[in-house]
Amino acid sequence: MKKVLTTCTYCGCGCNFYLQVRENEVVGVYPSKEHPISQGILCVKGWNVHEFINHPARLKTPLIRKNGELVPDTWEAALKLIEVRLNSIRKESGPDALAFLSSAKCTNEENYLMMKLARAAAGTNNVDHCARLCHASTVAGLALAFGSGAMTNSINEIEDCDVILVTGSNTTEQHPATGNRIIRAVDKGARLIVADPREIPLVKYACLHIRQRPGTDIALFNGMMKVIIDEKLLDEEYIELRTENIEELKKIVDKYSLEYVEKITGVPAADIKKAARLYASSKKASIIYSMGITQHTCGTDNVLTLANLALLTGHVGFPHSGINPLRGQNNVQGACDMGALPTVFSGYQALSSEDVRKKFAKAWGVDKLPDKAGLTVVEMINAAAEGKLKALYIMGENPMLSDPNTEHVEVGLKKLDFLVVQDIFLTETARLADVVLPGTSFAEKDGTFTNTERRIQRVRKSIDPVGESIPDWQIILKIAKLLGYDMHYDNPSKIMEEIASLTPIYGGVHFDRLKLFGLQWPCPNREHPGTQFLHREAFSRGKGKFSPIEHTPPAEEPDQEFPFILTTGRMYFQFHTGTMTRKTSQLHREHPEGYVEINPADAKALGLRGNCQVKVSTRRGAVITRAQVSTIVPEKIVFMSFHFAEAAANRLTNDALDPKSKIPEFKVCAARIEAVR
Ligand code: SF4
Repeated sequence: MKKVLTTCTYCGCGCNFYLQVRENEVVGVYPSKEHPISQGILCVKGWNVHEFINHPARLKTPLIRKNGELVPDTWEAALKLIEVRLNSIRKESGPDALAFLSSAKCTNEENYLMMKLARAAAGTNNVDHCARLCHASTVAGLALAFGSGAMTNSINEIEDCDVILVTGSNTTEQHPATGNRIIRAVDKGARLIVADPREIPLVKYACLHIRQRPGTDIALFNGMMKVIIDEKLLDEEYIELRTENIEELKKIVDKYSLEYVEKITGVPAADIKKAARLYASSKKASIIYSMGITQHTCGTDNVLTLANLALLTGHVGFPHSGINPLRGQNNVQGACDMGALPTVFSGYQALSSEDVRKKFAKAWGVDKLPDKAGLTVVEMINAAAEGKLKALYIMGENPMLSDPNTEHVEVGLKKLDFLVVQDIFLTETARLADVVLPGTSFAEKDGTFTNTERRIQRVRKSIDPVGESIPDWQIILKIAKLLGYDMHYDNPSKIMEEIASLTPIYGGVHFDRLKLFGLQWPCPNREHPGTQFLHREAFSRGKGKFSPIEHTPPAEEPDQEFPFILTTGRMYFQFHTGTMTRKTSQLHREHPEGYVEINPADAKALGLRGNCQVKVSTRRGAVITRAQVSTIVPEKIVFMSFHFAEAAANRLTNDALDPKSKIPEFKVCAARIEAVR
């Protein structure tokens, strides 16, 4: 049996393992003992990562819609159709009638090529990907506060923290390797504060569980900051030396008295005080957060508030101390780094800068590049529904399950003149396409993923592509050629050479340097060893900036008609839209269907028994699912995961956007629960 070392395709922790290969089939997996994250262990998804690769439902040929049905056809026919349709739409309606969705599942090289395809070949900045739905607010918020929108520290640093504040992150279920480090830290004596409305598994390791009402994080952290200022627990020397705008922050925070904050958040004043004292008085304190913070109409402001808290106490710019947004998918960090975003090129180089546009135009051999900011994910759907966007090219994303307000997504996708989906399975979105192209899984291609701690790591080809599928980077080259733009690369390492030459934070990244440990950006040149933690002596923007932030309520709050708050998230045994995990027997067995968690008091008031069928409705739609009666959720709050098409939580969620980052408010909407008799 052949064994091939590669990087996990599920969460952003980036564990490394060996795929075991027999006769072009991946038959098993075992963890790398030497790798800094996996350290000889994997979570249940990692241990079962091999099963979907050779699943019989893999797409093996292109599909073309004929008489309303998707039927298998040749690559030649599929590419010809794409050439004719994309070129005619571009000619008739202009380049901005086209849009491209890139993929956090695909490699850095593929994401780089996708944004190059959009900009240099199609002539539009309409390129985005699912980071818009998870951490767009992190990128915007941390860039404003520090100058860089990524995890400040490394996963292994967590283990030696004194205090860890986890908020809006169900870490042990969503980022198991990171959750493991938190538990190890507690074992070593760290104090853990969990601020989360749900009683997530980490709560049993915490010395304090704060259950703030969903959508009230700003008030909670402003309240903590007021305690810190009033009790003189702030780090004045650090503030003086390394930050700006403290007076503006103090003016705003002053009104967040404990009584006022308790009224907004529902958190007892004593707990707010305890959390503030614990966090401020420790030396090595880390904040860990995820989508419970980011997926709000005030998502960017939530992130800025956490940045304020860290700056106020001098807890950023050191080992073990910082702000650590955990990226959900294997390469969502990399897809952002590669500029698969409508306003930046790779390495977050601003589209608005003429010098940057000129630099890329010269390197790519085009006269000029479009300067108008492109559409974001939700804006693409809105533009499609309005008939302004005519063609959408989707690589490895499934908006029919992952985007908010699914009914509206379906309207938008059906209104398009032409929809191409490139994927490994016939997803809910691919079923609506005019042409479906078979891409390959991570096991069938070479490239790199960047994990949540900025670690760029190798993905290594283990088997030949299944059926007639083709590695996604090669498909993109073909599509570019159809649009009249030639790109030539012998293999993904050559693409990385180009990325390194144009992207300062990846400047020293070359395949020959990515052995067992990868490299953490910024890595500006060949000699640079990579960067374990950010902002050591100065922030990327110079001084850390305080932003005075006021609490703003969610876009939709409970009322008589919809008296519950619905919040959504993920489960340990499933991943994202279930495209791979639902085709993995062990994972599917453990968590085969969706449900809505409801508190026993609410269940009693509604006459619900455990496991009974219920209808969950919001202003956008309704789904039937099973009631899971549990104290995991507090009264008047219900929770659903979004993995299951049969009870798709995103039929219910609100597509209201954060005006600063355009992230939708997945985490709060008003809902009604009824028994199905
Ligand atoms: Fe894969 Fe994440 Fe599990 Fe590691 S923790 S094996 S990266 S899913």
